[in-house]
Amino acid sequence: MDLSYPAEAEAFRAEVRAVLAQELPPGWAGIGAIAGRQDAERFAAQWRQVLYRRGLLGITWPPEHGGRGLSRLHQVVLMEELARAGAPFGEHTDLFGIKMLGSTLLRWGTAEQRRRFLPRILSGEDRWCQGFSEPGAGSDLASLTTRARLDGGDWVIDGQKVWTSVAHRANWIFLLARTDPRARGHRGISFLLCRLDQPGIEIRPIRQLTGDSDFNEVFFTGARTPADLVVGAPGEGWPVAMTLLGHERGEEAATNPILFRAELDRLLALATERGRDHDPLIRQRLAWCYARVEIMRYLGYRILTQVQNGTELGPTELGPTELGAAASVAKLYWSEYHAAATELALDIQGLPGLVPEGRGPLRAVRTDDPGAPNSSGSWLGAFLNARAGTIYAGTSEVQRNILAETVLGLPKERRE
Ligand SMILES: Cc1cc2nc3c(=O)[nH]c(=O)nc-3n(C[C@H](O)[C@H](O)[C@H](O)COP(=O)(O)OP(=O)(O)OC[C@H]3O[C@@H](n4cnc5c(N)ncnc54)[C@H](O)[C@@H]3O)c2cc1C
Repeated sequence: MDLSYPAEAEAFRAEVRAVLAQELPPGWAGIGAIAGRQDAERFAAQWRQVLYRRGLLGITWPPEHGGRGLSRLHQVVLMEELARAGAPFGEHTDLFGIKMLGSTLLRWGTAEQRRRFLPRILSGEDRWCQGFSEPGAGSDLASLTTRARLDGGDWVIDGQKVWTSVAHRANWIFLLARTDPRARGHRGISFLLCRLDQPGIEIRPIRQLTGDSDFNEVFFTGARTPADLVVGAPGEGWPVAMTLLGHERGEEAATNPILFRAELDRLLALATERGRDHDPLIRQRLAWCYARVEIMRYLGYRILTQVQNGTELGPTELGPTELGAAASVAKLYWSEYHAAATELALDIQGLPGLVPEGRGPLRAVRTDDPGAPNSSGSWLGAFLNARAGTIYAGTSEVQRNILAETVLGLPKERRE
């Protein structure tokens, strides 16, 4: 394990810090400190454009597609500095556009698809969402039933997706559809790109326990997309999807320890503020949290060292890559930690913690935003969102199956 960064990464860190010093408002205390939800959303949208203007979005992409051709380690440095400053990494849809689809198009897209879509992802003109899950297909994604057939020059799509995060903010969707009804399992599935603003598509928001609507049902009824907007060969979308999921699951090693450490500091302050820091059972649970966050930091270092050594980020299902396994361990670790830590926050507050005061987190993922006050609204939102953490990007049971099969070498699970 090598904990130092090479000189060029440190030089880039200095560049990022200079941008943050110039662009963040005076007295900046983190996006969580912006009290009104709409104000915080507005700031996040403007900040995303600042990152774009300063060349800090998609930095690992080649220059001809609007990136800077920098290494993954540079990306890690960028994320570290943004997390430390409490500044957003981008907008809600950037996770799907930049991190997932962009990186996947660089691997699988045609020259024309890359030329057409990549610059528009960075500029924010095209905002993407992910249409994989269906009412009958989540962990077992290959059982999906949305279908697409060629009609003239178009794919015609029928079916339903569910849990589609940010579809209401997006104008494009990448989706998996069965294009060969005779093929079974992973075969015969295509990875399609489709405009959302068309008559054959209806987006219905799902209201969550928090009262927010971050995700949606998306219905396709004769929706159309041109025949050339298939990524990879028709019927061969599975490896494309697995590349994409590898990007979804792997890259948080750098930021999680920073975000969870900041949240733990807030939790310690909460115990003191509410006079619970002498309670032996609360102290024991706080110590448990501290140990977990420290271990998370070392897990992160291990993954970063592998990234620095040039180990490829492998999609977890495709093979027993060391980094793929480490990504599964990290996902399992932070998500289960977070459920316990946020439950502790509620226990510290007692009954008043059940009455939300102040706004909740801007996003349904991970910790509340850096700088958030120690309010019941913040912790209740984080607690409810933490439930989702053990489900999205591969449930805890699925991660354990991956580790059992790829690391421990246990027999493969029986599939009916
Ligand atoms: C906040 C959030 C955002 C999301 N955003 C998106 C999105 O943008 N796009 C998208 O396509 N999807 C999205 N999802 C959906 C997510 O990918 C699925 O919820 C997830 O894959 C699990 O699928 P499922 O909900 O159908 O549960 P199921 O797969 O039905 O699982 C139900 C339970 O059975 C367990 N289980 C399933 N299979 C096995 C097995 N083989 N062995 C042991 N246990 C098993 C699971 O662990 C779980 O506990 C999102 C989910 C959440 C919570």
